[in-house]
Amino acid sequence: MTIPQDIIRSDVLAMTSYPVPNATGLIKLDAMENPYTLPKPLAEQLGARLAQLALNRYPLPRPSALIDRLKCAMQVPDNCDVLLGNGSDELISLIATACAKPGTGAKILAPVPGFVMYSMSAKLAHLEFIGVPLNIDFTLDVSAMLEAVAAHQPAIIYLAYPNNPTGTLFDDTDLERIVRAANRSLVVIDEAYQLFAQRSWISRVSEFDNVVVMRTVSKLGLAGIRLGYLIGLPAWISEFNKVRPPYNTNVLTQATVDFMLDHLEVFDAQAAKLRAERARLTDAISKLPGAHVFPSSGNFLLVRVLNAATVFDELLGAWILIKNVSRMHPLLAECIRITVSTPYENAQLLAALKNVLV
Ligand SMILES: *Cc1c(COP(=O)(O)O)cnc(C)c1O
Repeated sequence: MTIPQDIIRSDVLAMTSYPVPNATGLIKLDAMENPYTLPKPLAEQLGARLAQLALNRYPLPRPSALIDRLKCAMQVPDNCDVLLGNGSDELISLIATACAKPGTGAKILAPVPGFVMYSMSAKLAHLEFIGVPLNIDFTLDVSAMLEAVAAHQPAIIYLAYPNNPTGTLFDDTDLERIVRAANRSLVVIDEAYQLFAQRSWISRVSEFDNVVVMRTVSKLGLAGIRLGYLIGLPAWISEFNKVRPPYNTNVLTQATVDFMLDHLEVFDAQAAKLRAERARLTDAISKLPGAHVFPSSGNFLLVRVLNAATVFDELLGAWILIKNVSRMHPLLAECIRITVSTPYENAQLLAALKNVLV
């Protein structure tokens, strides 16, 4: 008799799958989604366009016309190339797969607390993960980073710009010091929240031979279609392209991204509303007793409260789902993370928070 316990890796057996709570009927403020959908006329146009597609055919493995449009829209330097992924999550896995050298101790390094997929990708591809704690205000501990880079010579360094779950936009001078010191590493700058930070390293990718920039359409309103992209010099992109599953982005996703590029102003306007709401919400929550809001450059707020578990439970009782990140890292003790949403949903949240934080 064959049982999974005999076949599956012991570290996989010991894992739990990524928890996604059921949000049916709840105000969903846990996953940094954009609360706005496409305006109806645009949704109808998109529907008509998707109806034309040949779903019986495989997608183009590297849709060059779409990649060219994306490069143009995102002001990618001419000498750089773009790799599409089934979400940035897939790109993070591909990078780990391409860099793992079993037996030689290849490492991935990132500040912590940070995005869980960096350490997860290391674990699954058998690289060692080195987490370098941030300062208590969630700024980069540059000297600790530089020491760790020198001591570990990591293959890959992830810098989320801005960082999740803290919302911190790391200082450019600090980033540059790390990039220059890490001249034997690839530095991946993860710009998942670029529309909310309005800062980018894209124009600088061609300035360094060890920097690539990662983007996603998830946080700007298209989390459902799963598209991430990696921008870098062809020498890097062509290697990662070799480990990409041949048809990793599907025809519906490719056509939807093409449509998005025709209507970027819609997504920009939604992001502008969310940035304004972020400022309003920061201000309002800061005035509540026992709440400390950390400055955020993302579409979410990290808030320290007196008792995160109680706040989470009481908000859930008011049909509002947030994320309790307290147990992710000691630096996040009693912290919750809240996605910035529409004025209506933010008002619901504030009203509920006022009842809890008394
Ligand atoms: C949400 C997020 C991503 C996005 O991943 P997708 O797979 O593209 O949805 C990437 N990096 C960070 C830091 C994030 O917070």
